[in-house]
Amino acid sequence: MQYISTRGGAAALDFEGATLAGLASDGGLYVPESWPRFSREDIAALAGLSYAETAVRVLAPFLGDALSGAELRELCETAYGRFSHAAVTPLQQLDERHWLLELFHGPTLAFKDVALQLLGILFERFLSNRDSHLTVIGATSGDTGSAAINALAGRDKVDIFMLHPKGRVSEVQRRQMTTVLAPNVYNIAIEGNFDDAQRLVKAMFGDAQFANRFSLSAVNSINWARLAAQIVYYFYAAVRLGAPGRAIAFSVPTGNFGDVFAGYAAAQMGLPVARLIVATNVNDILHRAMTAGDYSVGKLTPTPAPSMDIQVSSNFERLLFDLYDRDGDVLASVMQSFEASRALTLDDRAHTRIGELFSSARIDNDAMALAMRHASEEMGEVIDPHTAIGLSAAMGADLPRDIPVVTLATAHPAKFRDAVERATGQRPLLPPRVSGLFERKERYETLPGELQAIEAYIAERATET
Ligand SMILES: *Cc1c(COP(=O)(O)O)cnc(C)c1O
Repeated sequence: MQYISTRGGAAALDFEGATLAGLASDGGLYVPESWPRFSREDIAALAGLSYAETAVRVLAPFLGDALSGAELRELCETAYGRFSHAAVTPLQQLDERHWLLELFHGPTLAFKDVALQLLGILFERFLSNRDSHLTVIGATSGDTGSAAINALAGRDKVDIFMLHPKGRVSEVQRRQMTTVLAPNVYNIAIEGNFDDAQRLVKAMFGDAQFANRFSLSAVNSINWARLAAQIVYYFYAAVRLGAPGRAIAFSVPTGNFGDVFAGYAAAQMGLPVARLIVATNVNDILHRAMTAGDYSVGKLTPTPAPSMDIQVSSNFERLLFDLYDRDGDVLASVMQSFEASRALTLDDRAHTRIGELFSSARIDNDAMALAMRHASEEMGEVIDPHTAIGLSAAMGADLPRDIPVVTLATAHPAKFRDAVERATGQRPLLPPRVSGLFERKERYETLPGELQAIEAYIAERATET
C-alpha cells in the first residue's frame, strides 16, 4: 500500500515512510492511494476475535509488507496487553438502543492511548530497521501529551519534547506527563496558551535547518498510522452489535476530526455504518461546515471539554480530498485559500455528499452537563464531559429506531473529575493504574514562549542526525 499527499505535491511513501514522516513535505496529509475493501465474509469472520487479532486483520492491508503477519501480531498483542480491560475497548449498554464504546482503558485514561500505544512500538521497530533516530516534538492541551509520553518513554532511538501551556492543563493531565522520569522524555511548560505552544511547534518544523538537524517528527493525529489504529474499534464494536448483517450508527465527540475520520475510513472499507454523528461543543466549525457548508474559523472558547476546544480541524482535509474526487491540485489551491482567508465554503456537491453519511450537533455546556446527569441518574453510568457531548448528540439524532447508536467514550470520568462532580455531584475515583500520581516526583522545565529559547533548550538535549 502506498500513501499519497492530499495536496498532490509530495512523493508517495509506503506505510513505514508515512508513519515516520507525519506531515507530507507539501504541507498535505498522507492518505492511502485507495481504500482497501472488506467483503461481507471478511467482516463476518471477525466475529469473536480478540481485540489484538481484530487489529491484525484490519491493519494488515494498510501495512502492506512493512511487517510480517507474525510481527504485526506480536506488536498488537504488546500494545493492547497494556490496557486494563481484557476486551481493550468494551461496549456498555445504556438503554435499549444506546451503547458506549469505552476507549479509556489505556494507561493515560483517554482514547488517544489506543492509537499511540501502537504508534510508539511501530516507531521503535521502524527506527531500529533503519538505524536512525527521531526527535518527536508536540504541543498538547493535555491528552495527546500524556498518551504520547507514556507510549514513547524509555524507547530506543526516539526523544520526545512536549510543550504544554503552563497552568492551563488539569493537574491529572500535567502529572501524567511530568511524573514520567525516563531520560528520553522532556516536558516544557510554556508561558502562554495552547495556541502559543502550537505556534512554536509549527515554527520549529518550519525551520528546515533545525528540523533536519534533529529529524523532527510529529505524533498528533495528522500521523496516518494513528488514524489507521483507530479504524479497528469501529469494526470491533460493529461486529459485536450485528455487522455485517446490521448497520450501526456512531456518535463521535470531535475536535481535530481524527477519530471520526477513522469511522469514515471503516465505512469506505465496507463496514455497514448507518450514520457518523459529529458531536462538537460550542467550538462548532465542523457543525457549521456540515449543516451550512460554512467552514470558517471563529473565536476559540474554552469549555469543560478542553480536548475538543479546537478551531481548525486538521483531519477535515482528508475528507475534503475525497469530496473533491482525490484531486491533489484542486485541494492544494482550496487549502491555500483557506489558510489565507481562514474560511472555506463547501460547494453544493461536496455538501450533499457529506450529508449522505454524516450528521452533526453542537452541544453547549448546559446540554453537556444535562447529558452527564442523565447518564448518571437514568443509565447508571458516570461519563466525562467529552463523552457527554457525544451522548447528547446521539440521543438527539434523527435515526430509525432499530439502528443501534454507539457513542464513543473518549475519556475516563476521573480525568475530568471536577467537571463531572459539578454536573453530577459525584467525584469519580482515579482507577488503580494511575494511583500514586499525586505522590510521584515531577520534572519539567518552564520556558518563555520564544522560539529561540526553546530551540536552544532542545538543541542541547536532542540527538543530531
Ligand atoms: C482528542 C480528544 C477528542 C477529539 O478527538 P479528535 O480525533 O481530535 O476529533 C475527544 N475527546 C477526548 C477526551 C480527546 O482526548
